Amino acid sequence: MKFKNLANLFSDLESTTKRLEMIEFLSNFFEGVKKSNKFEDLDKIIYLLQGELVSNIKKFPKIGLAEKMIIDALSLHSGIDKKKVKEILIKKGDIGATAEQILAKRRTQMSLFDFEESPSELEPSLEISELYTALQKIALSEGTGSQDVKLGILRGLMRKCSPLENKYLLRIITSTLRVGVSTLTIIDGLALGFTGIKDNRNIIEKAYNFHPDLGDITKILAEKGITEVEKIGITYGIPIRMMLASRVPYGEIIEKLGTPLTAEYKLDGERLQIHKKGQDVKLFSRRLLEISEQFPDVCKTLIENIQVDDVIIEGEVVAMDSFYEKMLPFQVLSKRRRKYDVEDIIKEVPVCLFLFDLLKYKSESYIDKSFMVRRKKLEEIVSERDELRLVKSQLINSTDELLEFFNAARTEGNEGIMAKSIKEDSIYQAGNRGFLWIKLKGLEGGKLKDSVDVVLVGAFYGKGRRTGVYGTYVGAVLDPVEGKFIAFTRFFSGLTDELSDSLTKEMEKYKTEKKPKSVICEDIPDVWFEPEVVIEIIGDEITISEKFLTLGYSMRFPVFQRMRPEKGPGDITTVEEIRSLYDSQ
Ligand code: AMP
Repeated sequence: MKFKNLANLFSDLESTTKRLEMIEFLSNFFEGVKKSNKFEDLDKIIYLLQGELVSNIKKFPKIGLAEKMIIDALSLHSGIDKKKVKEILIKKGDIGATAEQILAKRRTQMSLFDFEESPSELEPSLEISELYTALQKIALSEGTGSQDVKLGILRGLMRKCSPLENKYLLRIITSTLRVGVSTLTIIDGLALGFTGIKDNRNIIEKAYNFHPDLGDITKILAEKGITEVEKIGITYGIPIRMMLASRVPYGEIIEKLGTPLTAEYKLDGERLQIHKKGQDVKLFSRRLLEISEQFPDVCKTLIENIQVDDVIIEGEVVAMDSFYEKMLPFQVLSKRRRKYDVEDIIKEVPVCLFLFDLLKYKSESYIDKSFMVRRKKLEEIVSERDELRLVKSQLINSTDELLEFFNAARTEGNEGIMAKSIKEDSIYQAGNRGFLWIKLKGLEGGKLKDSVDVVLVGAFYGKGRRTGVYGTYVGAVLDPVEGKFIAFTRFFSGLTDELSDSLTKEMEKYKTEKKPKSVICEDIPDVWFEPEVVIEIIGDEITISEKFLTLGYSMRFPVFQRMRPEKGPGDITTVEEIRSLYDSQ
């Protein structure tokens, strides 16, 4: 397919904030693809719509083109002085919009002779497959002279593009292509475009929860139809989207889950989904990326101590003291993210894996089995030792028992507890934050002791001691239905000078010219950010807000608690949870 068609779709999608209109643009586009019967680029189209080059469970090699090179390319291509290009870029804050403006203007000034010299100005010819081949080449070119090679390839691509295509091409090259359409909206568009039946979105979403590579799923949908999508199940080495927990006031937990329920310690580590087949073990993070290389010791322990082939289990990996007696906080575990000197870090930060769920056993899916069946099977296959244990759990029959267990959990240094339904229908809800799991991190005496995960959407420049760094940030929570991030609070305290510096630097990557379409915010910060970076905050209480009117709530005395690098924007606290926290005060 021609890149031109996709650029037109991006442009249509960017022209609206209404979900229904987006779905219509997408479904018309997919209907066209279906009629054309040409599906080879479909997966790539989906990834680009998701703002990525490959599925979110894979990694594309780094493109590695310095901004200076891109400015050079744009200057050479347009014949406009580098200095002028830079000036426009600073004003616009977005390389794509800069390219479009410069090139569209140049186009109106071109003579017939120029068009003959450069025919693609009239008939852009770039194919999506060609774009990918070129991107691979750019990414893989290394060493001396590689910047020139990269620049040459980029210029070749630019010559084949219209100004509108160049806008998106340069955003792709600089990893800033975010069209602002959520995965759920794409799924709606796929259902309508390929099957004509809106409700088929549920089948596609279910398949996506088991196999979160929407490009793969779309190809199956196009080539084989919805019945084949329905058959998509768990695949070894493809992480299942993780089940998440909701929050309700502690007095309502018993009512929500029924009794008996099971409560477990909520540990302060990092979630791991483990796929084991024979002697091969893969560890996936909460963001569904493979992180086995951070934990070679955990992989070894699993191979030695879980004798079953072909299982998928889940647990929390926690940093321990050198006697494996005391659990250490998440910040200590974060040291394991280092990519070098892994052997030294393993010795410095010993870890224990605390298991709590089983999703597949000897090729049989356990996802639709009730929690007790899953837990029992897990107990059967694990022989506990220092580095590998089961999460502590207890059957609970009353709120008093629940609180007693909660207090014990807190005394032993845990974040709180997870209450889990053990009823017949207590299946593993992949990709869902339902009410079968409820987390309780603590509410005492009307004061909010629970934390909230927000995504940073904007910031104000600091003053005084904080000149040169951001002084105040705006954090938002998630409306999962609309796929929007709703402003919730401003916060400025709790950041050390060191963290303030590094966060300001880190946020450069996410700065955008305008408020992102997915963000709803009544504040007007000095800079806007793409919602990417997740932060945990605590505060005194949830209050009714006169400022953040869309949400209607805010936080009193919010304080930065810690960065949550293992969480993505889809994992943050939801609007529903904020309401429930307010009600529980
Ligand atoms: P939260 O990050 O506050 O939404 O809480 C959910 C996270 O708690 C999960 O993703 C796990 O990483 C972690 N967790 C800790 N202990 C447990 C447990 N016993 N069961 C499930 N999740 C747990």
